[in-house]
Amino acid sequence: MSDCVFCKIVNGQIPSTKVHEDGLTLAFMDIGEVNPGHVLVAVKPHVENIFGLDDALAAAVFQTAARVARAVQKAYSPEGVTLYQANGAAAGQTVNHFHLHLVPRYDKDGMRLTWPAKNPPREQLEANAAKLRAVLE
Ligand code: AMP
Ligand code: ZN
Repeated sequence: MSDCVFCKIVNGQIPSTKVHEDGLTLAFMDIGEVNPGHVLVAVKPHVENIFGLDDALAAAVFQTAARVARAVQKAYSPEGVTLYQANGAAAGQTVNHFHLHLVPRYDKDGMRLTWPAKNPPREQLEANAAKLRAVLE
């Protein structure tokens, strides 16, 4: 996609600071890092979101994520690491080219995800799961 910023990074048309590259994925530093060592792992082909990932890309991106997470752990010894991955504007996606964030985390580092847990009754969870099982491919 000619106007996609991550395609431009993959194609070398704009600069990036790379950590790892293989046939299917590219890991590079997030210019808006939350903490030092904040890395994005993107798929190389222009796939907008998780719904467009085939099995090979899905496997590759998580393999790279796990590998880079180990490097983040070794290099920065953070207190934790958050994987964050957004699909769609409502979920917080701003770059429509599949990527996931590896964010080194520290107590009181200011990163927040509000999590309004509802704790529904078991019957509701059963109904929710049945709805998913009915369409799972
Ligand atoms: P999101 O789509 O919400 O997962 O966020 C996209 C992320 O991409 C943000 O954290 C940005 O800081 C980051 N970003 C946007 N443009 C660039 C770029 N040219 N190089 C590195 N990171 C970028
Ligand atoms: Zn793209």
